[in-house]
Amino acid sequence: MRKGAVMEIDLGPEYGTFRAEMREWIEANTPSGLKDLANWGWQPIAGGRRGIGIAQAVQDPTYREWERRLVDERLVCAQWPEEYGGRGWDPVRSALFNEELRRQGVPAVRRGMGEALVGPAIIVHGTPEQKAHFLNRIVSGADVYCQGYSEPDHGSDLGAVETRGVVDGDELVVTGQKIWTSGARLANMIFVLCRTDPNAPKHRGLSYVLVPFSEENGVTVRPVRQMSGAAEFCEDFLDGARAPLFNVIGGLDNGWAPAMTTLGFERGGAATTAYLGFDQEFWELVDVARANGRVNDPLIRQRLAWCFTQIQLMRYAGLRLLASLAEGRQPGPEASVSKLFWSEYHKTFGEIALEVVGTGAMIRPAGEGYATDDWQDIFFASRAGTIYSGTSQIQRNIIGERALGLPREPSVTQ
Ligand SMILES: Cc1cc2nc3c(=O)[nH]c(=O)nc-3n(C[C@H](O)[C@H](O)[C@H](O)COP(=O)(O)OP(=O)(O)OC[C@H]3O[C@@H](n4cnc5c(N)ncnc54)[C@H](O)[C@@H]3O)c2cc1C
Repeated sequence: MRKGAVMEIDLGPEYGTFRAEMREWIEANTPSGLKDLANWGWQPIAGGRRGIGIAQAVQDPTYREWERRLVDERLVCAQWPEEYGGRGWDPVRSALFNEELRRQGVPAVRRGMGEALVGPAIIVHGTPEQKAHFLNRIVSGADVYCQGYSEPDHGSDLGAVETRGVVDGDELVVTGQKIWTSGARLANMIFVLCRTDPNAPKHRGLSYVLVPFSEENGVTVRPVRQMSGAAEFCEDFLDGARAPLFNVIGGLDNGWAPAMTTLGFERGGAATTAYLGFDQEFWELVDVARANGRVNDPLIRQRLAWCFTQIQLMRYAGLRLLASLAEGRQPGPEASVSKLFWSEYHKTFGEIALEVVGTGAMIRPAGEGYATDDWQDIFFASRAGTIYSGTSQIQRNIIGERALGLPREPSVTQ
């Protein structure tokens, strides 16, 4: 087993030329010092403390310069149609570009939930006027979104959200509490799933609305600390927050459709390139095992081999998903397979990492507050991956019912 032993798949001359062009462009345009600002290739994990270092690095002028160059070249949200600021790339091109960025150790400039979740819902369900207004603002970075789905009593059971939306003239007035809102402190917009028709059955009567996320608009945000020590998600209270009816995506009382489009992209979107971060993390663990001699323990070797195999499975499953996206299909139950697979893998990887580190893993490093080292951080934060974007149990339900056609789970409300 050797680093970089994976063969590069030949996708034909057109994609080969594209890859070479992108490789050259990245080499020519990477500002000096960018690669050393942070460990950009690590797998990002929601709720991990590593995110804090990245959040600082993206404020650096060198990163800002890189961001400007990518925006000027339309290499941010390049998968979006040209008229909305992208390049109209197919999913294969997007994946190849991301692979090249990773290979050269430089960051992709992403627009977070705006790019990954809200944008796709607007592209699929928005009116031409909504696309023209909202998508460019995401590309430029003018609007930064957070996700207002979960409520204190409604996470998995999203259709039961209680936050109310009441029409007042040409505005929607939103009142309720959302929780576990990642990145809330950086956001100026929130996409909210709220109930606009209380008399309609559960999954109907909901609306998907883009709400200005500020104190002036009646929003209070409080951080929630996690097991990893990070406090990057928040609870937020919307007290009569107002949004123009123009900001309702998919039509009033028809929010379930855009909400599901968003969830499909949330679960499957990164499937095509996510293995790259896991791969880098894995090889760094192998380096630790080599340095401390644990690599000579046959059980450790077996566990590391298991990790390697899982990452390859992720890669090939990602390519399969890529092929179906290239045919123009929206992600279906395979998005759940991918989400279940990587999140459960990562949880086990965190446990293996601590075994490799050995007894030292039980000691927290010196430092202010709740210091953890990278491996402890993975161990804690990887648990969150099996909860957000739909828990592992929910993904299994989806796979059972929608992919395998098994009988539906009995519901207490039926
Ligand atoms: C790091 C992190 C970031 C997050 N970011 C966001 C965010 O930005 N925005 C947002 O809106 N939410 C966010 N969430 C919330 C997340 O989506 C919810 O936690 C998740 O959907 C589960 O909901 P819940 O916590 O209410 O648990 P519950 O739904 O109460 O579930 C509790 C347990 O019951 C199980 N369970 C529930 N229903 C079923 C069922 N039908 N069949 C089998 N088992 C079931 C679950 O699997 C779980 O084990 C985040 C969560 C985490 C951990």
